[in-house]
Amino acid sequence: MDITAATRRALIEGVADSVIRHADELTGLDQAIGDGDHGINMRRGFEAVLADLDRLAALPLPEALHAIGMILVMKVGGASGPLYGTLFMELGRGLPVTPGLADMAAALDAAVAAVKRRGKSDAGYKTMLDVLIPVLETLKSGHPGGLSGLAAAAAEATRPMKAVRGRASFLGDRSIGHVDPGARSSALMIGAICETLEAAP
Ligand code: ADP
Ligand code: MG
Repeated sequence: MDITAATRRALIEGVADSVIRHADELTGLDQAIGDGDHGINMRRGFEAVLADLDRLAALPLPEALHAIGMILVMKVGGASGPLYGTLFMELGRGLPVTPGLADMAAALDAAVAAVKRRGKSDAGYKTMLDVLIPVLETLKSGHPGGLSGLAAAAAEATRPMKAVRGRASFLGDRSIGHVDPGARSSALMIGAICETLEAAP
């Protein structure tokens, strides 16, 4: 798939706008089972990304993703900053300039593995990985249709889970019954990427 500068710009804007638009919702989720800063952290990170939009969109896709990862590491903070930073930087390392579906699956595989290592985390721990892993599995299957809905449903499916990692794990059983904030932010990003690619010329 040829991802032009215009599409890169639309992708970056789409993801950033969605996260920023939902910042209060993300903060609300984090108030229930964390310290109430996830939306604030993510908004700060993606405002910094938007402030650099011209430079980022002009970079080839791999370099753009790596640069976004660096901004997120520096600006988001909390547990999610280094984890999302790792995700984007590894995607940048793994993707070719003109990726096909198999390239996307391979790059996301490596990026998810890096997030797992960094967070000492895995599927079922009630984190962003509970969205990223099902998305990865769907990409690997070669049939990515409905990915946005799948990601949203995967975020919702963290509600009955008991948190094993992150601040929510301090609550033990009281973490049950709430959607994980990082799972929700991951689903928002996947949704924005799908929407932009579907609209791309
Ligand atoms: P903090 O927890 O430091 O306040 P944020 O509120 O920004 O950071 O992010 C919380 C989100 O980060 C959680 O909802 C979860 O999805 C994710 N997270 C936290 N710790 C881990 C971990 N060890 N592995 C994977 N994801 C994690
Ligand atoms: Mg928090």
